[in-house]
Amino acid sequence: MRKSRFSKDFKIIAAIFLLSTISTSLFAQKEMKKEAKKENANREYNLDDIYANNPELKPNRFREILNRFMFSFSAGYEATFYNTDLSSQSIYLAGSKNILIGDADNKLYKNWLNAPEYIGEAENFPNYQKLETNGQQVVYKGVGSGVPIDLNFNYLFGRRFRAGLGLTYATHRLKKLSPESNLNGTLIELNPEIKSAFFKYYLTLGAELYHYKGFTYVLDMQFGKTSLGKGFSKDALERSMTINVGMPIERVFSEYFRVFIRPSYEFKNYQVLLPESTSTLKTSQNAFAITLGVKIRIPEIKRCPIHSCETQMKHAHGDQAYRGQPLVYPQNPKIGQIPKTLQNYRRKDKAKFQPRPAGM
Ligand SMILES: [Zn+2]
Repeated sequence: MRKSRFSKDFKIIAAIFLLSTISTSLFAQKEMKKEAKKENANREYNLDDIYANNPELKPNRFREILNRFMFSFSAGYEATFYNTDLSSQSIYLAGSKNILIGDADNKLYKNWLNAPEYIGEAENFPNYQKLETNGQQVVYKGVGSGVPIDLNFNYLFGRRFRAGLGLTYATHRLKKLSPESNLNGTLIELNPEIKSAFFKYYLTLGAELYHYKGFTYVLDMQFGKTSLGKGFSKDALERSMTINVGMPIERVFSEYFRVFIRPSYEFKNYQVLLPESTSTLKTSQNAFAITLGVKIRIPEIKRCPIHSCETQMKHAHGDQAYRGQPLVYPQNPKIGQIPKTLQNYRRKDKAKFQPRPAGM
């Protein structure tokens, strides 16, 4: 009995002791964390203060100007929506596979979509059957596809606005166009089998709209002209301006490096000027594209050349300013903090370049 009571008391004392130890240590930990936070806050402030924006440091003017430009490279997929309205033309069926159009003077044309060719007056082709549309609209639609590759550069105005120039090269393929209504089975599919390459040059304007957790949402526009390549007859086509609206979403890794995805919609069309005729035929080539790419800015200062230097933020040695990070590391440029896993990589990286001790 006595023994058990004693052990009970002991247990209670032990429990109280344990609880108080835990609570004091928890309290102490909390206090320590608070202290650490305060210290960190102080450090951030101080680091900001001694950051290389030192008026005594002479920045390299050329690099500083270069740093105002952002270079972009991307590639992706593009769908081009063809739409051509034949309602103002007369339509002739030439066999089971070909559709010709006739202008107001009944001159007949083949390949009228991309490379029109005059073949003669309708009366010389009695076998070709003129289609009675009875006032119904005749619209052909089809989807071409391609792979666009884009290069551009933008000058940055402050933190929000940008303007620049760019080029897009895109492979292009169009297999078929289908009539919107086949007029009771009399209209057939067209198989133009176009293989070409588009080349667009443009002026671009953009604005950063919103930043959220390392992502930047941008709205940009391109104004330019698109050359349609060898799949289209240059002389017979009058091309419109190309206007492209995009909504890039950029993952901001550092002030020098971003990865982005850009969905966009493009407006463009062309008029086919039928040879030896005053008639024209309009085809729209609006397109949806999605591209993936990177944006790079040339750093205004060099990477710190001292291998043993562990400074992550921008800093100075002598009268020279350096950055402590490779271009692509996610970091706050003012504090220089990077995630722990990356810090480890960084150490490994640096270890590779350590000079070996003599004799090894
Ligand atoms: Zn350094």
